[in-house]
Amino acid sequence: MWLSLARNQLTVLPPEIVSLDELRELNMSDNLLTLLPNEISHLKKLKKLYLQKNKLPRLNHNIEGCVALLVLDVSVNERVSFPYEIKYLSQNELYCEANPLLQELPVSSEQEDEEAAARIVLKSLKDRTSRSRVLLKFHPELRKSLAATRKGAVCRESFLNTWLECVQFVSSRKVLGVKNNAGVIPLRVLLCSYRCFNVGTHNYYGVALP
Ligand SMILES: [Zn+2]
Repeated sequence: MWLSLARNQLTVLPPEIVSLDELRELNMSDNLLTLLPNEISHLKKLKKLYLQKNKLPRLNHNIEGCVALLVLDVSVNERVSFPYEIKYLSQNELYCEANPLLQELPVSSEQEDEEAAARIVLKSLKDRTSRSRVLLKFHPELRKSLAATRKGAVCRESFLNTWLECVQFVSSRKVLGVKNNAGVIPLRVLLCSYRCFNVGTHNYYGVALP
């Protein structure tokens, strides 16, 4: 089963699509998508995903759920960065031509607000006897947001929102094992802090926001 909604003016992926669990090929090229829904991961049989000529600034990590993906095209979008999880997919072909992120030198980054509080909670949750654990039982919405916890690429400490979004330029052939020549691609990695960014033993670059 395949579906093409190419060359429309779509700004979002119609939500019904993610329930098409027999979908093998989805062509969303030449639209105005700025984001993929997290539920993209429901498409377990999807083999080909065409997203070229959209407005995507990033590919979310839920793409990891598309376990059958073989061909992914994100050419001609915004400054697309790829989630680290893309390493776990076995795609054969990857296309990301005309990615502005590869033409500039990324420099600095952004920090988010409620982060400090979130980290205190995350830290205290490691303690089995902590009050936060008890509180969490009564706050499913909080539990849900904490489930989105990520780990810093340098220190492996937990945090909730992106503190420092960096990219690591990797060879698509060597690291992702794709068969076509997609060259170097920017893999997104998250660092918890400038402290980790400044340790200097990594090859992560901060991304300047446009
Ligand atoms: Zn860190």
